[in-house]
Amino acid sequence: MHELSLTQSLIEIAEEHARREGAETIVSLTLEIGALSGVIREAVEFAFEACSRGTLAEGATLDIIDVPALGHCTDCDQQCAMQSLVDTCPHCGAFAVEIMQGQEMTLTEMEID
Ligand SMILES: [Zn+2]
Repeated sequence: MHELSLTQSLIEIAEEHARREGAETIVSLTLEIGALSGVIREAVEFAFEACSRGTLAEGATLDIIDVPALGHCTDCDQQCAMQSLVDTCPHCGAFAVEIMQGQEMTLTEMEID
């Protein structure tokens, strides 16, 4: 499962940061998941439950924000919402759409204690 290894490394990063700050627990984590990242929110929540056991992140609140996918058309230089990785530009119909946002899973906020 893709989400399991992603979540594992996410917890490692969070723990490392928390230790550096001298924290004893991680209270909450905010995660942004891009619409085209291929990451399933429910799977991350499940993996987080399992992977956080015995770590500083055990019992932490996990906030997940869905990030819409945004593209940029290099033909007409406009931005557009993207529904898939191979969308055409809704303005001019070109295939020259670069994905600007929505392909990643990012840890954006963390509350420690
Ligand atoms: Zn276009």
